[in-house]
Amino acid sequence: MARHLGDDYLLPVLDPDNTPWFTSGRLQVQFCSDCNAAQHPPEDVCVSCRSTHLEFREMPGEGTVESAVAVHFPVHPLLKDRVPYNVAVISIDGAPGCNAIGNVTNKGAGDVEIGQRVRAIFEEATDPNTGEKLLIPNWVAI
Ligand SMILES: [Zn+2]
Repeated sequence: MARHLGDDYLLPVLDPDNTPWFTSGRLQVQFCSDCNAAQHPPEDVCVSCRSTHLEFREMPGEGTVESAVAVHFPVHPLLKDRVPYNVAVISIDGAPGCNAIGNVTNKGAGDVEIGQRVRAIFEEATDPNTGEKLLIPNWVAI
């Protein structure tokens, strides 16, 4: 699948905390093994109880739009041919209090509504500097 914002657009820099999110092809959310709190993006410690016993759990892959905007101004030169596009805040099913930010790729700019149910899709990319294969979460309305 081609990337919604273009195959030349910037890629995330992987680290041990974000690698499950950007490479697994599934929604992997970090949970605390001690207090069971979910947190996203992942951290080195639990933001609820400061435990360092953290694990990733696979989520069902759907969510609900909490907020959305249509971007009309290209904030980066590589996006000048991609505007307008949608950016949404998605509450992740199965991970209370956790939101992800992404594009809703199958709706016209400005057509995403709060409360819209969405499903995760994964855009393939290979980092030209490291050769790492990424599967970047994005969203489609369902
Ligand atoms: Zn905790």
